[in-house]
Amino acid sequence: MRFIVFTLACCYGQNIGIAMLMHESNSFNGSLTQRADFTVTRGGAPNWRAFFAAQKNEVTGALDVFGADSKVRITEGLYGSATPKGPVAKAVYESLVSELIASLKAGPKLDGIFLALHGAMVAEHFPQADDETMRRVREAFPNIPIVVTHDFHANISPRSLSYCTALIVYQQTPHLDTRERGQRAARILLRTLRGEIKPVQSIVKPPMVFNILYHNTYSGVLHPITQDSMAIERNNPKILSASVLAGYQYADVPFMGPSVIVVTDNDRDLAEREAKRLSDRLWAVRHELKMNAPNPATAVANAMKAPKFPVALMDTGDNIGGGSAGDSTFILAELLKQKAEGWVVTMYDPAAVDAALKAGIGGNFDMAVGGKSDKQHGTPVRVRGRVRSFDDGNYIEPAVRHGGSTFYRMGLTAVIEAEGSTPLLKNYLVLTKERSSPNSIHQIVHLGIYPERQKILVAKGTIAPRAAYEPVSAEIVLVDSPGATAVNPAHFTFKLVPKDLFGLRP
Ligand SMILES: [Zn+2]
Repeated sequence: MRFIVFTLACCYGQNIGIAMLMHESNSFNGSLTQRADFTVTRGGAPNWRAFFAAQKNEVTGALDVFGADSKVRITEGLYGSATPKGPVAKAVYESLVSELIASLKAGPKLDGIFLALHGAMVAEHFPQADDETMRRVREAFPNIPIVVTHDFHANISPRSLSYCTALIVYQQTPHLDTRERGQRAARILLRTLRGEIKPVQSIVKPPMVFNILYHNTYSGVLHPITQDSMAIERNNPKILSASVLAGYQYADVPFMGPSVIVVTDNDRDLAEREAKRLSDRLWAVRHELKMNAPNPATAVANAMKAPKFPVALMDTGDNIGGGSAGDSTFILAELLKQKAEGWVVTMYDPAAVDAALKAGIGGNFDMAVGGKSDKQHGTPVRVRGRVRSFDDGNYIEPAVRHGGSTFYRMGLTAVIEAEGSTPLLKNYLVLTKERSSPNSIHQIVHLGIYPERQKILVAKGTIAPRAAYEPVSAEIVLVDSPGATAVNPAHFTFKLVPKDLFGLRP
């Protein structure tokens, strides 16, 4: 039966469905992710193709491959994505997955599916939510190849491999290879449909937390292991994909932590052997994953006397891309207390934006900002200054940056020239109505803030902002700040994560 399906698909072209549902859910953020948090583009919407064509993500990569093949017809499925936050509300998960499956059934009978999932979605009623999504898609389409992509921060349940033909994961953090991974996944799907290959896959999970401080794959402990995974893909044609991923340490789920997945062309032994070998390499560096980040007070004091500016301080406890509140005040409080000069802080605070609007451009600003979302991110801090400007908070990133997005939004935005500013050196407090991870330097550039003229840039993230901030910064400092994404797992009480994972209690 399978032979007949493939033969027909080969002769008459292939109908391929593409859908994408992305969320990284932080179990320690008490705010559930709701439908309004999601940007949703329905299958077949007039802007569907243009939306993906303008990005650099895994679906863009799939369209590169499928679009270049005249025999492929695409069914445009649901796209849904939300900024990381707390677990996805039950009803929201149920409706999105139902719509996703319906969107794939709306077109002609499919021969294959390209499904882009994050891998670290937690739903209220399913801790390993992407696993459940894959199970449902497989149930709806029992006999066709389904190739799935995941983010590097996926917490993968080994069972999920049984629901798909191949699982391909980003290799790089910051995620600059999303498009290439999408292209690879799409080629695997096409070649499978045409009977050229028969993917088999193996997963090995070393029993450890791979601390987020060390997720940079472009240097440091992960670099040689990532390079190894790339080399075997390059040098061995039997290896269709080798994914080494570090997992996401803020999800309290049974399979939290790193994984290695190797997909081969019908060679199970090779897949198992290489996955084990790469997993052993992760395990071997476990003692090097030590906490070595300064606290906010030390980080600010050091930055003020740095030999070269600007210094970028990564607010790891308030890593918006990791699902934190976006309004932590620990670093801002130190900047004010130590009378630092030439700083830029971006903060989510809708009420403060409203206060700035009331004051108008040039008006006085004097209010306590931040620390309002919950009790984990500091107390509100009084800031005095002058309202400089407003913006609708929409900007684009033309270059390839973490995640491969082109379009960003942070809601109505107010720029405050804060106390301590001089005519030559300003302190900027950027207040936003929505939480937005600082993956693009255009977040501040589009507001008329020149990062190279500043001394201290604060970015609410850990590794993701590096690609944006490295080109403009003399130094990047990871700051050990408290919050929902504090880098030390000992700050959190896990219930579902296995208690004996190495690194859970450093
Ligand atoms: Zn990620």
